[in-house]
Amino acid sequence: MSTLDEALEAAHLPSLIVCLVHLTGDASWLRPEWKPTYTPLSRGDTGLSQDEEAKIRAAAKPVLEAWLAGDRTLPPPPPPETVRRMMDFVAGAEIPEGYADFLMDELALGGESTKDPKWEAPPLKQAARRLKVVVVGAGMSGLLAGIRLSQAGVDFTILEKNPDVGGTWFENTYPGCRVDSSNHMYSYSFEPNHAWPQHFSTQPVLLDYFRSVADRYGLREKIRFRTTVEEMAWDEGRGLWRVKAVDAEGRDVSLEASAVICAVGQLNRPRYPDIPGRDSFGGIAFHSAEWRHDVDLAGKRVAVIGTGASAFQFVPEIAPCVASLKVFQRTPPWCFPTPHYHEDVPEGFKWLLEHVPYYDKWYRFFLFWMVTDGLLPAVKADPAWDGPPSAVSAANAMFREMIAQALAAQVADRPDLVDKVIPSYPVGGKRALLDNGVWLAALKRENVSLVTEPIAEITPKGLKTQDGTEHEVDVIIYGTGFHASRFLWPMKIKGRGGRDLHETWGGDPRAYLGMTTPGFPNLFMIYGPNTNIVVNGSIIFFSECSVRYIVGCLKLLAETGAKALEPKREVFEAFNARVDEANRLMAWGSPNVTSWYKNEAGRVTQNWPFGLVDYWRATLEPNPDDFVLERDREAAVG
Ligand code: NAP
Repeated sequence: MSTLDEALEAAHLPSLIVCLVHLTGDASWLRPEWKPTYTPLSRGDTGLSQDEEAKIRAAAKPVLEAWLAGDRTLPPPPPPETVRRMMDFVAGAEIPEGYADFLMDELALGGESTKDPKWEAPPLKQAARRLKVVVVGAGMSGLLAGIRLSQAGVDFTILEKNPDVGGTWFENTYPGCRVDSSNHMYSYSFEPNHAWPQHFSTQPVLLDYFRSVADRYGLREKIRFRTTVEEMAWDEGRGLWRVKAVDAEGRDVSLEASAVICAVGQLNRPRYPDIPGRDSFGGIAFHSAEWRHDVDLAGKRVAVIGTGASAFQFVPEIAPCVASLKVFQRTPPWCFPTPHYHEDVPEGFKWLLEHVPYYDKWYRFFLFWMVTDGLLPAVKADPAWDGPPSAVSAANAMFREMIAQALAAQVADRPDLVDKVIPSYPVGGKRALLDNGVWLAALKRENVSLVTEPIAEITPKGLKTQDGTEHEVDVIIYGTGFHASRFLWPMKIKGRGGRDLHETWGGDPRAYLGMTTPGFPNLFMIYGPNTNIVVNGSIIFFSECSVRYIVGCLKLLAETGAKALEPKREVFEAFNARVDEANRLMAWGSPNVTSWYKNEAGRVTQNWPFGLVDYWRATLEPNPDDFVLERDREAAVG
């Protein structure tokens, strides 16, 4: 098969068709009979007949051949109204008016986006040089902050506790670790990677991506590795943050900064469960995020505690090599059928991304559209719902039925597992995992057992469950997640009047738009409280919106000459009230769900309950009226 034939075979045809409009300048390619009809969770099958798909390929082939053989100049770009039609075409639906500017921005056909810092004006450039920012963390968000700050001409230093960049992708090296958002979307919007080997690539590939971005943007020289921030305090007199860190040799590092951006992630500090006797275990024990690669699991009796996203990935990897594996499950995960979860990206598809103008953008747009509102309507609670507590609305109940059937079908030969693997809480209560069958296949292995009896204690020899059974093991692996609700912990952060951030929060972290908090001037968070998403989008999109807004806040400081800003209390309160009200009406806010999305008081501290478009719009630029600006005339611009 020729490269072109392979490419046509692998193509996402709606994305290819709109590329033909770019190549030919002819909008008649958008033929109604070629418009796709997607079904939820269908992986973007176009709903077109094989005959029709063959016709599209046959029609596209000579156009691509001519393009490759010609001088490769494109006709003038399609006018905006045609681009709107192209969007509708790829989406297979009429895109609501309120989404058009947001999606057009994400598509960024001209290469420009609202996320690019615009600091060209000479007075701004001059003011930018007076700012000094400390970024905490060189993971996905911290690197992004570094890129945007350099583009704005703002000086910055990134402090990173690890010896390399990558954050979560550096730390989580457990077997089977991979991304669970489509990779062609889980990448910076301005740094596409046409060579992703898989649709959901593995951790080493993700780490390489972030490493190469750090190199390409010259960020390494701005990063102080193996330097852990321990505390920071706002100096009211001078209007700056004093940041204290410790380097690898245990030496104190002190920095001053006009602003601090915390980019430490939500899932960064491993959480071991409070099970009695945990320290008494005589074998080897470790957490999934601190994987002991020096421990050979071959032939060992292993216990895994937890069945969340991490265990879901490493259990199928280790099951074949261990002597026996007991998986201790408190609550089963919901899993969405995703047959291509481990599949390679066909070479022909990579070729299209690389060689056909705009194909990468339109394919990304398609992925983005599919998760824009994603399954949000299906996980929204209906206050009038009077059905069982295993759902939150009629739509949610239907959705549940569909996924439960897919799970039940996989364990049809194991009736003992059916009730154990189908969750009783509503779909969307926790993050659903992507299922290509390997999880339940692993649980069905002869050397694997799924233990649902609660763990009573950990003993020197293993685990004892509440029914009195002793489970002797050589190794315990904790897949028990992270201290998610303890945002920015264990850093000590003192704001105005020496007030401690964690005491102020009192176990209930809140921020305005997930980024700023009253009393803590010029302190910004990326992936802060209430910016996590459960069923829609990629967190990179959120970070890009947050960084745009934070850079906008710095611009506001530069433009006004203010030395500090913080959100007005009433703005902060009103925002949080809106978020809480909306979260209560989502599946994850349901009283029938316990998860790390909620803090001890039961408030959802993690999740964004609205659409992606709402975060995009809210973070376009800061509204000066939302902030208290502390003036410093000398620093004023112009
Ligand atoms: P997690 O989702 O918080 O799962 C922790 C698991 O441990 C849950 O099954 C939990 O049960 C169980 N557990 C906690 N304490 C326990 C106890 N005392 N006794 C018994 N079981 C206990 O943690 P994770 O799997 O590390 O994943 C965390 C998050 O990281 C994910 O939600 C996801 O956002 C992210 N992640 C993403 C990927 C990816 O993109 N590929 C991979 C891994 C992780 P309950 O459910 O009953 O609380």
